[in-house]
Amino acid sequence: MEISVVIPLKNEEESLPELCEWIVRVMRENGFTYEIIMVDDGSTDLSWQVIESLTSANENIKGIKFQRNYGKSAALNEAFKAAQGNVVITMDADLQDSPDEIPSLYKMIVEDGFDLVSGWKKKRYDNVITKNLPSKFYNSITRRMSGIVLHDFNCGLKSYRKKVVKSIEVYGEMHRYIPVLAKWAGFRKIGEKVVEHRPRKYGVTKFGWERFINGFLDLTSIMFMGRFGKRPMQFFGLWGTIAFLISFIFILYLVISKILYPQYALTNKPAFYLTMAGMILGTQLFLAGFLGEMISRNSADRNSYLVEQRRGFTK
Ligand code: UDP
Ligand code: MG
Repeated sequence: MEISVVIPLKNEEESLPELCEWIVRVMRENGFTYEIIMVDDGSTDLSWQVIESLTSANENIKGIKFQRNYGKSAALNEAFKAAQGNVVITMDADLQDSPDEIPSLYKMIVEDGFDLVSGWKKKRYDNVITKNLPSKFYNSITRRMSGIVLHDFNCGLKSYRKKVVKSIEVYGEMHRYIPVLAKWAGFRKIGEKVVEHRPRKYGVTKFGWERFINGFLDLTSIMFMGRFGKRPMQFFGLWGTIAFLISFIFILYLVISKILYPQYALTNKPAFYLTMAGMILGTQLFLAGFLGEMISRNSADRNSYLVEQRRGFTK
């Protein structure tokens, strides 16, 4: 199978028939073998009924339904596990992304050798204040922190080599940073393509103001996980040791002064309280590092990045 189209959706009943029809038309015109995986992320409207009728009308269309709303990342993750196509293309359900982009996104993966191609909504039809400006800000921070040169990390329209979606786990609100996840998983060829963006035709946006804070928290944890996720001690242990050593030197100094000059009052010196706090903090950081090491040692994917290929082994 050449292409899996993945569509996460929540309450998009009006858009689905039109979207599917359009995708199917593009697939037929180009002669692609394909599947469309629609993930109903806890819709409360008739989306699932619409999906059921679409799947029974066309055997290439498949549906996954969540019991409740788990978020776009969970929806993508579930579809990534199920996808069979050599190239996986994700797309929003609200008709803001154009299926006409599919053939060129596919070609960039199979012919130009990209691992991941992100759409770039260069001309964007969303609210300037609540969407476009914050998104510019986020994109520039993410670019700087991750070193990946993309203009639009969070574009819903993206294409992936199959191996990429099988190697990453998208959870929380991580769908905004999939290129960063892919980079940490070892996929270096990440490109972008300017894509057509259209105003939302039906329904309303599903992301409110919380995405600013959540987005920032997820970015910090993703950067931390990428750098120190497999070796937390190198972060916590380093800072713990530094805090402890500095405080220890000061404590020594204070104790020696006290011995040499018994009239020297320790407890009304700021240095006394600072060194106490420093030693406690240092020990705590060290412990956090140890706990982190123990957790990562027990995690199922502790070595998942090691072997890429094997050859010549007999079973
Ligand atoms: N979506 C989802 N689960 C959620 C929120 C959104 O599957 O909890 C889907 C939504 O139906 C749409 C896509 O994610 O297909 C992008 O959402 P939306 O268009 O609301 O975001 P915007 O374009 O406004 O950033
Ligand atoms: Mg949208």
